[in-house]
Amino acid sequence: RYMAVGLYDPQSPIRVRVLQHGKSAEIGLDWFRERLKTAVSIRQPLHKTDTNAYRLVHGANDGFEGVVIDRYDKTVVVKLYSAAWVVHLQPLLTALTQIIDIEHIVLRLSRGVAKQTDALYGLQNGDLLLGDRADGLVTYRENGLTFVADVVNGQKTGAFLDQRDNRARVEAFSEGASVLNVFSYTGGFSLYAARGGATDVVSLDLSKPALAMARDNFELNRSHPAIARANHTLLAGDAFQEMANLRQQKRQFDVVIIDPPSFAQNQSQISRALSAYKRLVRLGLGVLAPGGTLVMASCSSRITADDFFEVVHEAAREGKRPLIEIERTSHALDHPIGFKEGAYLKCLFVTAP
Ligand code: SAH
Repeated sequence: RYMAVGLYDPQSPIRVRVLQHGKSAEIGLDWFRERLKTAVSIRQPLHKTDTNAYRLVHGANDGFEGVVIDRYDKTVVVKLYSAAWVVHLQPLLTALTQIIDIEHIVLRLSRGVAKQTDALYGLQNGDLLLGDRADGLVTYRENGLTFVADVVNGQKTGAFLDQRDNRARVEAFSEGASVLNVFSYTGGFSLYAARGGATDVVSLDLSKPALAMARDNFELNRSHPAIARANHTLLAGDAFQEMANLRQQKRQFDVVIIDPPSFAQNQSQISRALSAYKRLVRLGLGVLAPGGTLVMASCSSRITADDFFEVVHEAAREGKRPLIEIERTSHALDHPIGFKEGAYLKCLFVTAP
């Protein structure tokens, strides 16, 4: 009996990357083209919002188990989480160029895939598969803001596109606020806050290259008067340490955004991750002005939404500062949820009296 067709991946606990089940299929150019057309049409509404960077293929959620494709205007980044895709890249890339108007394709490899040199046929992380260019810097638009991303050396595929809607939510309540953006990366939340009228914005991250790009991104958007007016400062250092320092200096912010990297790479790290979230909530509340808004996010797919929201509340109760919920949110429409674990991003908006 026919069950499914997929890519055999001897190096992964997901031994077969299932592409289609139930109905038989020949995996090749036509199949890729049809799947990509569906993916493109789901993302169509984004074009109306002056946005040209989005996740075009969100792995298994779009039927492409083990591959992610992010689009930054005319540059497309194909990121492989399984070496089984290498021998199918050609028809996939051909289908991409037939369906959307692109000039550059950049290949990114997950750490696990980059190590499997035998299966890569000489391909390397950061390789340019289409077009020619000197560096990996791309300019793109998101909700009318201009950003640069480094698609070759940057984290993930260059930017964290999944937080787009949450960034826009922050803009809506930033008028007149002082804002601390913890784990700021290239300043995404900071720019939205500034456009929303924040007077002071601090971008805090461990990565100096990311902070340099946050500064550049503010420069790029000076045509927005509110962004030109905002006082933006960079703080390089460990988030836990720097938040404790700010607390000691008695600094307070009307809005604190905490968007940490994934703390649980595997099952055994779950309890450690939960206690790290708790510590971050306590540190965040330590610098949050009375009545301020805390935005707390988690991108660990292994931590369930229920557990995450509960741990945030628990930390606040223990600190005798119970929270009032404004909203619980997830990722934007270009990250469709095709299966339970696909809903990895959780975000909680609360006020703390
Ligand atoms: N909020 C960002 C994405 C954050 S990704 C956006 O909207 O684009 C997580 C960030 O955490 C990365 O920029 C990484 O450099 C940073 N980071 C990781 N560990 C850190 C630490 N201990 N202290 C401060 N920043 C850290």
